[in-house]
Amino acid sequence: MNIHEYQGKEILKSYGVRIQEGIVAETPEQAVEAAKRLTEETGTGWHVIKAQIHAGGRGKGGGVKLAKNLEQVKEVASQILGMTLVTHQTGPEGKLVQKVLIAQDVYYPGPSETKEFYLSILLDRAKGRNVIMASTEGGMDIEEVAEHSPEKILKEWIDPRVGLQPFQARKVAFALGLEGDAFKEMVKFIHALYRAYEDTDASQFEINPVLKTSDNKILAVDAKVNLDDNALFRHKTFADLRDTAEEDPLEVEASESNLNYVKLDGNVGCMVNGAGLAMATMDIIKLSGGEPANFLDVGGGANAQTVEAGFRIILKDPNVKAILINIFGGIVRCDRVANGVVEAYKNIGDIQVPIIVRLQGTNAEEGARIIDESGLKVFSAVLLKDAADKVKEVLA
Ligand code: GDP
Ligand code: MN
Repeated sequence: MNIHEYQGKEILKSYGVRIQEGIVAETPEQAVEAAKRLTEETGTGWHVIKAQIHAGGRGKGGGVKLAKNLEQVKEVASQILGMTLVTHQTGPEGKLVQKVLIAQDVYYPGPSETKEFYLSILLDRAKGRNVIMASTEGGMDIEEVAEHSPEKILKEWIDPRVGLQPFQARKVAFALGLEGDAFKEMVKFIHALYRAYEDTDASQFEINPVLKTSDNKILAVDAKVNLDDNALFRHKTFADLRDTAEEDPLEVEASESNLNYVKLDGNVGCMVNGAGLAMATMDIIKLSGGEPANFLDVGGGANAQTVEAGFRIILKDPNVKAILINIFGGIVRCDRVANGVVEAYKNIGDIQVPIIVRLQGTNAEEGARIIDESGLKVFSAVLLKDAADKVKEVLA
């Protein structure tokens, strides 16, 4: 689950990670109130207004702007609130901005220069370990740094048996070229950040930039926090952090019906029971020249209701030109699934796209017969290869 920058920062702060302080607002009036309060609390004169959407690259897209007084706070907040912000991570359609974070300006002048760093913690699945990634090229797109100057990214893997060791935090701070107070602050920052990452069962923390202020404080200016869905049951309070307005509407609808759905860009919708079979089905669709429009795992007990909910979601995707249903009757019997398909088909009505149903396992023949005799625009197949060939046929 992704959360907003302001929510991520609140979590970091509760673990003692220093952050660029801010207050979230939903109207220009609230923004001005927030700015006043922030001045009282932090002494900041200037403020940064930051669009809160689940995507990076907001700065370049015009979603992060400086305000030097309260009039400007109001003006900039009115500009950003309600805008459709397009960044390289939102896609061309952009995202509607409904909240802004009013933050203290932390790039103030002082005895030394400000510096931006990149710092992230994520799970390296290949190594089975968490990895800290750090770079002096802060504020930049890390994918670009990785492509053009990979030597500028330091990776430090953490042994899960002993956790983050003090020498590792020092190694990272040293590689970032820090010394004196800023070095010590960075070591503390990394330890607090790692503790927050482990404690919240996060799957990714990306702090870009981490700032060394002109008076040698280290703080998080941005926070991209991704929490592990499978661990949310251990953190009941995190449920409130979810913002469904930021998620794909079809994926939200699917999760309400307990369906595991991921939208993709292709033209063949698929409905499968079991994640492994779903992956194999997507492969075979590609092999037969189609592109999967989605991943959909209806789970072990596919019945008429789940099949219907799945159908409805797939059909809402205008790109879908054919649907492949691939069910293995293990726990569930194929004749029941077939009846479910026919029933759902009739309930929804007016389905224009051809549907290929491949049933295998318990009562497969009976299932195929029910499909064939239904008189609907549904084709049955027994072998996966046949199903793929039929998809090719109907797409042609
Ligand atoms: P992103 O573009 O979505 O990654 O948003 P960030 O939170 O990283 O902000 C983008 C950029 O805005 C940063 O890289 C900074 O250069 C700039 N920025 C953020 N906070 C401040 C601030 O307090 N003062 C000034 N002058 N610039 C800031
Ligand atoms: Mn950023």
